[in-house]
Amino acid sequence: MIDLHVHTTFSDGTLTPQEVVKLAKEKGLFAIAITDHDTTDGVIHAIDEGNRLGIKVVSGVEISADFEIEMHILGLFVDINNEFLQQKLKMLERFRKERNPKIIEKLRKMGYDISMDEVEKLSSGEMIGRPHIAQVLVKKGYFSTTKEVFEKLLGFGKPAYVKKDKLKPQEAIEAIKKAGGLAILAHPHKYLYLDEGSENVFLELKEYGLDGLEVFHSDHSQKETNMLLEIAKKLDLAISGGSDFHGENKPEICIGVGKGNLKIDDEIFYVLESRVLKP
Ligand SMILES: [Zn+2]
Ligand SMILES: [Zn+2]
Repeated sequence: MIDLHVHTTFSDGTLTPQEVVKLAKEKGLFAIAITDHDTTDGVIHAIDEGNRLGIKVVSGVEISADFEIEMHILGLFVDINNEFLQQKLKMLERFRKERNPKIIEKLRKMGYDISMDEVEKLSSGEMIGRPHIAQVLVKKGYFSTTKEVFEKLLGFGKPAYVKKDKLKPQEAIEAIKKAGGLAILAHPHKYLYLDEGSENVFLELKEYGLDGLEVFHSDHSQKETNMLLEIAKKLDLAISGGSDFHGENKPEICIGVGKGNLKIDDEIFYVLESRVLKP
């Protein structure tokens, strides 16, 4: 069993890369991919731990790209030292950094007593994002859970939402490919109805270099999974799968098995790996 979509404390997961690898090993997984949002900084820690414990760790990243609301593109087997990729990720980090003070400003205007300082303190060096802002609001007693903060204030279209500058899908794919990785469209059901229209989107992304689809995902129904399997076959796209594990931030999702409905075969890892090894 494998899990090619896992988050750590380097983005919005709650376990460190080492803890994630240890958990995956305990659960008997053969391979995992570390795919934090817009950063590869956690990968090296996971690889070291993977070598120690004897579990394969794929270097990955999940890049947010512009598409209606947002589209996520996974880079798997990327060279984390690739300068082009790192430049793009730095740019995204800058976008994100500019965004946080804007959100704080909105919240203050709405009467919430919150400062950037408090958010920074709480993040203890991780990439600062909305989860940290939500945590401060919970800590101060405004809300009882971070989920509630997202539903009422920080989520898309809510009063304290601030649009994030993003890469175009083709830019995200280009960065992944230049770093020698495979570009996989993450959880397609989140932004596409799986019909003929979505095939055109997949085909357009394939023109840009997309290698595959995340067919297996915690939030895909059996029907969606089957449709994606068919589409992948029809369009000659590789198949990938992962739980999108976030630790306690999404407690219903477990590493490897998702909501209990996942079982991603080792074979999928080998097929993807062979695509990377091919010149
Ligand atoms: Zn995602
Ligand atoms: Zn994810």
